Amino acid sequence: MKWIDSHAHLDDRAFDKDRAAMIARCSEQAMGVLTIGSSLRSSHEAVRLANRYRNMWATVGIHPHNAKFVDEAALIELRELAGDELVVGIGEIGLDYYRDLSPRERQRQAFVQQLALAIELNLPICLHNRESTDDLLAILKNAGEQHYGVVHSFLGEGVLAEEFLALGLHLGIGGPLTFPKNDVLREAVKHIPLDRILLETDCPYLTPVPYRGRRNEPAYVRYVAEEIARLKGVSVEDVARQTTENSIRLFRLSD
Ligand SMILES: [Zn+2]
Repeated sequence: MKWIDSHAHLDDRAFDKDRAAMIARCSEQAMGVLTIGSSLRSSHEAVRLANRYRNMWATVGIHPHNAKFVDEAALIELRELAGDELVVGIGEIGLDYYRDLSPRERQRQAFVQQLALAIELNLPICLHNRESTDDLLAILKNAGEQHYGVVHSFLGEGVLAEEFLALGLHLGIGGPLTFPKNDVLREAVKHIPLDRILLETDCPYLTPVPYRGRRNEPAYVRYVAEEIARLKGVSVEDVARQTTENSIRLFRLSD
């Protein structure tokens, strides 16, 4: 594998018409993909896809948008799904106070419960955080001094990056790094050690320049890597190699 897209939603309806062709393009580019669960349904689908295609793995979890559906039965089902050998993490889990699609109290409860599951199963976490940093950090710190996982689609400034790094977390960097308005993120990325960065697309969302506005797909992580290389003054090959190693190590990936 030359590349790994550490955060894709390959079960998304946006891929229904050409999913197999899109996944074939990933193989042609020697690209591994983690397809991320966001509900029980999509977690099942992620596991199914990972078992069907080579160099594909799944995470299972319930997104904060869907936190209102997390109950005892859902947690039992997630635990069972996590037993599949191609499930390499719990996520995406966390908080989203921007869209508030589930009540905040339910979001916090669902996050605490799924974080505990990840710790118990010794699986890395894939974190979603939008306008909820204080509560997210408080819950993480309450659960342990060090964590094992990635803050997906990190968008913050350098100080916040350092805080997540100090907790042992990796930072997922995607398409927004290429958006003109994100100078603060570009400045932060200059200072994040390359061995703590994971490449991601969050496809079908957050398409990088030059394809912004169109559907995103894993093959476009190349444009994120090019921007990281430019900011850090290293080669694109170095970014690809190091970030691939990071994902393999963090998620303990094997063929
Ligand atoms: Zn996502």
